[in-house]
Amino acid sequence: MTIFRIALAASAVFTLASCSSMSSMDPNQLLQSGQLATQALSLSDSDVRTISDKSCAQLDSENKVAPASSQYTQRLNKILKQLGDNINGVPVNYKVYITKDVNAWAMANGCVRVYSGLMDLMNDDEVRGVVGHEMGHVALGHTKKAMQVAYATSAARSVASSAGGVVGNLSASQLGDLSEKFVNAQFSQSQESAADDYSFDMQKKKGYNPAGLVTAFQKLASIDGGKSSMLDSHPSSPARAKHIQDRIASGK
Ligand SMILES: [Zn+2]
Repeated sequence: MTIFRIALAASAVFTLASCSSMSSMDPNQLLQSGQLATQALSLSDSDVRTISDKSCAQLDSENKVAPASSQYTQRLNKILKQLGDNINGVPVNYKVYITKDVNAWAMANGCVRVYSGLMDLMNDDEVRGVVGHEMGHVALGHTKKAMQVAYATSAARSVASSAGGVVGNLSASQLGDLSEKFVNAQFSQSQESAADDYSFDMQKKKGYNPAGLVTAFQKLASIDGGKSSMLDSHPSSPARAKHIQDRIASGK
């Protein structure tokens, strides 16, 4: 997940209005930027849920979704039965995308997608650790913020000024752009650490071995020279693995 890039784009948008050198900029551009920031922050939980529903459906239509009979789907269902079927009351909807890419993500509406490339690379404990981490981003409100920013920085924003309102009739291309921005975004360092801890706590609470989180990070660090999109994040994978190892060692 790549919420970091979106966060950078957002801070550029948000700081523009207070930039002392803005007199050299086109006023229309500035107005537009101010509106974008306002729109992003004004999206309600319900707006974000609706946009996430549409975005999730769009991504499902663009990707090869594993059928229910697929070994991937059956394995994921088995692993994730252990994590429960909701995140803070939001029902979870799991699917596998058949692709070599190593990735997994979740949206505020409970849409959780795991790529077959990640399932090929990881054992059940590791997949459960990674999905617990993605569920943490939902439970802690990170995915809501990420979707707000993806919305404000994508072509979908033009809809807000039309009669359709904030979540009006988004076209397939607008949804595609928004969805790509969401999936390619990165979370901040503190968000990643918080989601790691959320997954660790979840595994322990449900009686599963949290060591899968450690080896998951180690595997992610070893692939593609550490250049996986799941790895662009800070802190580094070795640092994240060590943090979880320390928690296992301390027993809390
Ligand atoms: Zn994350």
